[in-house]
Amino acid sequence: MTFSDLGLGDAVLKALDDVGYETPSAIQAATIPALLAGRDVVGLAQTGTGKTAAFALPILDRLDVSQKTPQALVLAPTRELALQVCEAFEKYAAHVRGVHVLPVYGGQGYGVQLSALRRGVHIVVGTPGRIIDHLEKGTLDLSELKYLVLDEADEMLKMGFAEDVETILADTPATKQVALFSATMPTAIRRMSQQYLHDPEEITVKTKTTTSATTAQRYLIVSHQQKIDALTRILETENFEGMIVFARTKSATEEIAEKLRARGYSAAAINGDVAQPVREKTVNQLKSGKLDILVATDVAARGLDVERISHVVNFDISTDTESYVHRIGRTGRAGRSGDAISFVTPRERGLVTVIERATRQPLTQMQLPTADDVNLTRLARFDDRITAALGQTERIDGFRDVIAHYVRHHDVPEVDVAAALAVVAQGESPLLLEPETEQQRRGFEDRADRGDRGARPGRFDRDERPERRQRPSNGRMATYRIAVGKRHRVEPRQIVGALANEGGLSRGDFGAIQIRPDFSLVELPAGLSQSTLDRLSDTRISGKLIEIRLDTGGPSARRT
Ligand code: AMP
Repeated sequence: MTFSDLGLGDAVLKALDDVGYETPSAIQAATIPALLAGRDVVGLAQTGTGKTAAFALPILDRLDVSQKTPQALVLAPTRELALQVCEAFEKYAAHVRGVHVLPVYGGQGYGVQLSALRRGVHIVVGTPGRIIDHLEKGTLDLSELKYLVLDEADEMLKMGFAEDVETILADTPATKQVALFSATMPTAIRRMSQQYLHDPEEITVKTKTTTSATTAQRYLIVSHQQKIDALTRILETENFEGMIVFARTKSATEEIAEKLRARGYSAAAINGDVAQPVREKTVNQLKSGKLDILVATDVAARGLDVERISHVVNFDISTDTESYVHRIGRTGRAGRSGDAISFVTPRERGLVTVIERATRQPLTQMQLPTADDVNLTRLARFDDRITAALGQTERIDGFRDVIAHYVRHHDVPEVDVAAALAVVAQGESPLLLEPETEQQRRGFEDRADRGDRGARPGRFDRDERPERRQRPSNGRMATYRIAVGKRHRVEPRQIVGALANEGGLSRGDFGAIQIRPDFSLVELPAGLSQSTLDRLSDTRISGKLIEIRLDTGGPSARRT
């Protein structure tokens, strides 16, 4: 099945092609046609199943960009999820002209939100408390709302937003279409859907339940940014023969294969864009041992049967259990045992239980191999190389005299000569990794725990609690604009680090940070002194002058 089979239009299809999705995930295949047909939907789905696209695509496909008041509202439990959903909308809207998406959450100054709302937005993605605030103030007009999405509904209820959500459901036009997504279906959600949704189509993704008992399944909690690092450590420490690395998109397969080749592995990518003859050739190379690692999308690896595959690594965890089962079925062939390792981002943790339930087999959590683990295997491999070379007796005989001559004439112990030759054999790269300090290791684990949010100071984590508790600080903050954004690969911690160091600010001075494609918005205490601004005026992040200034909310400032 393809995305165009689901009835989506060209603009959206083009964006999907850009991002490299090959086929709809199970939840998308079931939800998109129902939403396009105008049905209300209740979807039982976890993060990681592709649910965001499942609701975002039908909205974008039917959006009327000429309507000035908001047409779509997505309610999400946390600021972090709201921002992720906004990013997803922006990505899928790349070929729909003039679409404006606005994130609205507590902890962010009202100014930013108000001016964007005044200018007109099509899609609002927000946390329930702040949406209610805007409704009460009369600054958000939902009288012409056509689409309402409740994302992670069970989480919203857990966080105490039940009343706010119901108020929004009741106070928006009865004619709107509602899509509710939830990982679980507690009675409160069932009741809510019976009361506010019209004859909803209930969608649960069916799961296939056979995995080979001969495949040992493990998972590693890792943030998105750490995945390549984690993969290289696994490649170093696991005893693998052939490996398939699964990624979600075509572009990711290329990127991962390229990075592995740069690190000296024989790796190649196969995906739906790779022509059939090339694909066959690549698979044959894997079979014959010319190639060790194949980086593939689900589609490209369908039906692959290569005995040499000892390991499957899910670089991106599958969007549904059926594809998980299919993927790990690529190893443990012909009665051999196999290994499957899945990278799971902290937000995707819930998928582990879903997979365990569906496959009725446990997944064991593994730890990232330490520098010591890596070094032990490097030393063992080095020993193996020496042993193997000693086996080449004729060639060894040929060199014995050369070495003996050197030792006699230079008066150097034989072990030093052997060590010098090891340096020659090793080349420029060091044999061993620097051992990590306990602190670095903890840092890695903390980062994985904070996941895709990156390493931010505690204040930002606090911001993710329901917003009603954070209002007091808002009045004293102002939004500043700096000229570095996603395109400059900037992360919140770099912004905090640079501004704190050079502007003499303390961590507690930072409010919300939004990283946009070309610039970022940072909440800082209102009325920063001229001397602070002067100090910051020649600050650089990633080599670029940040050109800090108070955000005026001008037309180019926050088009989202
Ligand atoms: P979600 O469950 O919406 O958080 O999506 C999980 C991840 O899957 C996101 O990184 C999406 O970009 C990705 N994704 C969603 N749909 C597809 C698809 N059809 N093919 C490949 N990746 C997808």
